[in-house]
Amino acid sequence: MIQAIRGMSDILPADTPYWQYIEDSACALFSAYGYGEIRFPLVEKTELFARSIGEVTDIVEKEMYVFTDRSGESLSLRPEGTAGCVRAGIQHHLLRNQIQRLWYMGPMFRHERPQKGRYRQFHQIGVEAFGIPDPGIDAEILMMITRLWRKLGVSGLRLELNSLCTGTARDIYREKLIKYFSAQLDRLDEDSRRRLHTNPLRILDSKNPALWPIIENAPRISDFLDSESKEHFEALRSILDTVKIDYVVNPYLVRGLDYYTGTVFEWTTDRLGSQAAVCAGGRFDTLVSQMGESSTPALGCAIGLERLVELLKEDSQKSDGRNIPKPTPHAYLVAVGAKAGCTGHSLAEELRDRFPDLRLIVDTQTGSFKAKLKRADRSAAQIALLLGENEVTTGQVGVKHLREQVSQRTLTRSELNDYLDTLLTDMK
Ligand code: ATP
Ligand code: MG
Repeated sequence: MIQAIRGMSDILPADTPYWQYIEDSACALFSAYGYGEIRFPLVEKTELFARSIGEVTDIVEKEMYVFTDRSGESLSLRPEGTAGCVRAGIQHHLLRNQIQRLWYMGPMFRHERPQKGRYRQFHQIGVEAFGIPDPGIDAEILMMITRLWRKLGVSGLRLELNSLCTGTARDIYREKLIKYFSAQLDRLDEDSRRRLHTNPLRILDSKNPALWPIIENAPRISDFLDSESKEHFEALRSILDTVKIDYVVNPYLVRGLDYYTGTVFEWTTDRLGSQAAVCAGGRFDTLVSQMGESSTPALGCAIGLERLVELLKEDSQKSDGRNIPKPTPHAYLVAVGAKAGCTGHSLAEELRDRFPDLRLIVDTQTGSFKAKLKRADRSAAQIALLLGENEVTTGQVGVKHLREQVSQRTLTRSELNDYLDTLLTDMK
């Protein structure tokens, strides 16, 4: 049997309600803040990712799915959404001198070592805002995502913030770091040694615990912030304090992509083992100009959906699944005999016309009445609608409650409509 590719999962009907719940909640919330959805391809030119994410990053160096297509062009499966979003924004003239609030959702691909919370195809929901230099927009995104956690009822997430500073301040800090790490070259691992001169900030982000004691004593970026970055960061913090959003400043938070310039942030949890980050992002004020458009400040973040689903599932099991809408059927229609079968389909279609929210399953298999009722019971529906020769002749419908001890009744069509009206209202 052919199996799915390692690290690429099927999401089965038992789990899709969690996904839909997150997707629907995010879509409604983002649109309430004025963010419009953008959809861009899963495949782009490799050069796009190399230029935007950075050549000396984990993603571009070792995680991308790169292939040559039949016309000899190097293409890659998208490892993240910002590059494609910026490319599309520039190509369709959405960014020049304009404010754009955008969001996207879909699968991303990275060739990492698969483990719990880390996959080769995974899903992100991301938001990006373009054209606003003001720290108010940094705060808006943080408030919006915080509201999403609240709306979903996910607890135990911690917001970490840092500011990366830009321009000459960044260069000075970079030099300091190179000097500091060079002095203990023999204690660095291979990755860090290779990055020492190309991307020393990334060493701070190392997942190798052996390096943490060295990292802890490294020069701190907060001591090198230029006055503009400092002001921006302080203004952001004061908005967050005013709206009472909890955060901690983590001076070692640098993020794994090259394009971040100012504010960077991550929501982490200790409930997912070492795959702790659930949402991450920051400011990338120079990326748009680097990609060929006039200079446009920007920032954004992406939520890792597999990790969020994991948390949501855990929380929902604790609360008996109260927060997740359950798509169990309201009714299951059982018809016995050829004539009743035909009437059954026409009754079902009429009910669907009248009650667009009705979840109704029509039994379309052969079998005895008893077998059909068994299937009705297994469907988890609240009631069975019964049609036999008699009901077809009298134009009535039998109603049998499957979950409560209520005696079976025979209703006229208009009584059935009233009955379903009440049932749907009660089950809302
Ligand atoms: P990590 O440090 O866990 O590798 P990252 O910094 O590479 O994360 P980003 O590129 O910022 O992650 O992506 C944003 C979010 O997407 C992450 O916070 C995480 O929730 C999720 N994510 C990233 N890579 C994966 C993956 N391979 N499998 C599942 N989720 C992922
Ligand atoms: Mg990663």
